[in-house]
Amino acid sequence: MYCNMCGKEIADDSRFCNICGAKVITLEAKVTNEPDVEENKMSVAKQALLIAGATIVGLILAGGILLFTISLISYL
Ligand SMILES: [Zn+2]
Repeated sequence: MYCNMCGKEIADDSRFCNICGAKVITLEAKVTNEPDVEENKMSVAKQALLIAGATIVGLILAGGILLFTISLISYL
């Protein structure tokens, strides 16, 4: 399987990525001692991904507007 943080291929039974050290989140819950904690971690990770994605989109949009403004000013 592949690490969901760095995307490198890692062993199927790995719990942590040996490349970047991130915890590997598997779709099939093999360890079900603390399902609630795992679920919370998953949703926190999803929220972090959403926030990161929104931030990146915002930065790209801001950069695009800035470049557009600069090119407009230099054109005038
Ligand atoms: Zn990794």
